[in-house]
Amino acid sequence: MKWSLRYFGDPVLREHSKPIEEITDEIKELAHFMIDYADNNNGIGLSAVQVGVPIRLFTLRDYVILPDGKWTLSAPKVFINPKIIWKSKETELDTEGCLSFPNLQIGPIERPLKIQIEATDLEGNRFTEEREGLNARVAFHENDHLNGVLYIDRLPPRVRKDIEPKLQEIKKQYSK
Ligand SMILES: [Zn+2]
Repeated sequence: MKWSLRYFGDPVLREHSKPIEEITDEIKELAHFMIDYADNNNGIGLSAVQVGVPIRLFTLRDYVILPDGKWTLSAPKVFINPKIIWKSKETELDTEGCLSFPNLQIGPIERPLKIQIEATDLEGNRFTEEREGLNARVAFHENDHLNGVLYIDRLPPRVRKDIEPKLQEIKKQYSK
């Protein structure tokens, strides 16, 4: 396997990912691998650095509310060289999970309620969209990965301290 999931403790997760200059076949293949990986592992989003490639790319699916009030997921989306161009002052607290931290759904993590994000899709088209609530949270979480920032960094210090044993366990169990 060309790519594999990187877990907490792997130094690549702290790298600052590099901008993508050209959307090559390899990058397209990587994006499809990431979408499949997230789908097969109950993930909603994944950044390239999490499979060991520190380039500015992440994939996700949106939560969509159906007319009957139930949730479903959108088609996958690819964000290349994303930039958060606006965030609301209003924030929201919620728990989060991350594929690089198995079985660690934790919070509260404060994120902007709404964001505007600009990115390039796999066909090379630049687009801008407004995202809200959980969908803003997921994009913000993935964008953080591109800057070497992990969701545990955004926990209140007390909670971060409480989960230290669990973090050490993840490091020991999953990292090489
Ligand atoms: Zn993550």
